Amino acid sequence: MNDYIVSARKYRPSTFQTVVGQTNLTSTLKNAILTKHLAHAYLFCGPRGVGKTSCARIFAKAINCLNITPNGEPCNECDSCRAFNEQHSFNIHELDAASNNSVEDIRSLTEQVRILPQVGKYSVFIIDEVHMLSQAAFNAFLKTLEEPPAHAIFILATTEKHKVIPTILSRCQIYDFNRIGINDIVEHLFFVANSENVVAEKQALSVIAEKADGGMRDALSIFDQIVSFCGTNITYDKVIESLNVLDYQYYFSLVENFYKGSVSQSLLIFDEILNKGFDMQHFITGLAQHLRNVMVSFDSQTTCLLEVTDEVAHRYVEQSRSCGIAFIYKALMLINECDLAFRTSRNKRLLIEITLIKLCQIQHPIVVEAEKKNEILPIKNEIQGQVEKKTETPLSQPRQQVIEKQEVTPINNVPTKTFKSTVSISTSVPKKTVEKQESSLVERDIVQKNDDYTEATFLNVWEDFAANAQERNASLSRTMFKSLPKKQGDVYVVSTVNQLQHKEILDNKQEILTFLRKKLSNDFVNFSVEISLEEEKNRTFYTSEEKLSQMVKENSDFSKLCSLMDLELD
Ligand SMILES: [Zn+2]
Repeated sequence: MNDYIVSARKYRPSTFQTVVGQTNLTSTLKNAILTKHLAHAYLFCGPRGVGKTSCARIFAKAINCLNITPNGEPCNECDSCRAFNEQHSFNIHELDAASNNSVEDIRSLTEQVRILPQVGKYSVFIIDEVHMLSQAAFNAFLKTLEEPPAHAIFILATTEKHKVIPTILSRCQIYDFNRIGINDIVEHLFFVANSENVVAEKQALSVIAEKADGGMRDALSIFDQIVSFCGTNITYDKVIESLNVLDYQYYFSLVENFYKGSVSQSLLIFDEILNKGFDMQHFITGLAQHLRNVMVSFDSQTTCLLEVTDEVAHRYVEQSRSCGIAFIYKALMLINECDLAFRTSRNKRLLIEITLIKLCQIQHPIVVEAEKKNEILPIKNEIQGQVEKKTETPLSQPRQQVIEKQEVTPINNVPTKTFKSTVSISTSVPKKTVEKQESSLVERDIVQKNDDYTEATFLNVWEDFAANAQERNASLSRTMFKSLPKKQGDVYVVSTVNQLQHKEILDNKQEILTFLRKKLSNDFVNFSVEISLEEEKNRTFYTSEEKLSQMVKENSDFSKLCSLMDLELD
């Protein structure tokens, strides 16, 4: 085990040709070498693990090679190349600015710039993570970069180009390294697996490639980890198990079930995923990513946005064809809503399950019986909304009766005033949208209670509430005891003595009603609140407008004074 070398090092490319996934860039470098158009400074930018340092080293080796190949590659056989490969060449100097970013560090590097190379033509200085240099170090380095001796070549590498100061950028030839494509990574992993006598399934390697997110170094270290976990036979199942990746087959079958409208299957699949130990946020993100992939597969112009192997890409294309783009858009929006609501949701599992139901209803909206028969449900909802709005005026009949009355009223005759608070009623024919279905589903399950009760029991329950409220809201409790409801015709009226008490009852009305309705087993219980006229005369609370109008009434000259002096209430 002592001579074990990690794959990322063992299979580090030694020629431009073996650098994976950067063909354009390496051929430009090779051209520059062959035509001897060398710059004094290069900046290699790009994500971690995509071959920046490897390319810098190959470049350094190639320009010092004594026997360069006709296509610009180092020969790997001459003295210089061997010295490079055995890592004792004096022509290469590396500084990792991430850990050595002081002025002293950069000085000890630049001091060597003046020394002529003993072997070969060029001294190459590689500064990794150059954006990490301190401001002072940058300045110290800038002088050297401005007037380098002919034999010195700088290769700066960075993962964050925007952090490199412009004065440095303007002195460098810039090369942007791309994330490596999934297919390229898989191909290289196959090569490594073969060389190591490891048998691997293509699907398994593609999961590793996806997990590595475009970085070859990461892909190789995951590969090593998998080999030590499952030996020389790498299967898809073992890889997703050890990397804790959710099998994408789950997402494919979920979307199939959404499209078929199979709620139960969808819920069961979700349950199975949770039982496997995947967290819910992970699930939502994964499903969103899957749907996004299906979406971009619909148009051949956007399939290039997929970052999967060709085989999986083919499956996405198939799924997008069978579902159609409208379905996918709706599904994406639903899952996005779920994602947004997830963090603040108290019942996260239910939130996801409701989303799954909505997803199943995109193609198969459930039509509720009542709605099928005479399409009254939306009207009923509106009437209820209207009643809820008008709670301050006495409701002369139990709600059910009102609704029944309205049901026979043709919709065109409903006074326009009632449309104010709502928009959806403006279409007389209910649209069979998912939202409507959902509210209908809820409607259907509610059986409204309508037990009889007497005035005495009403009063008892009222006083119960007032007594219960005493501890948490003594003032409300007092007001309720003082203003007992009286039955006037079919309506209960609560008379308060002033605006404060009026407001106090109104503010708590919903809570009081809930209590009354529950205790009386009647969902149509209601009461109105008014300010007693008797009390109104004697009240001591006046608004500014009331005071003013009273003063004007008592002395008509007062209004003249107001207008003369341009007085206004504030
Ligand atoms: Zn050579």
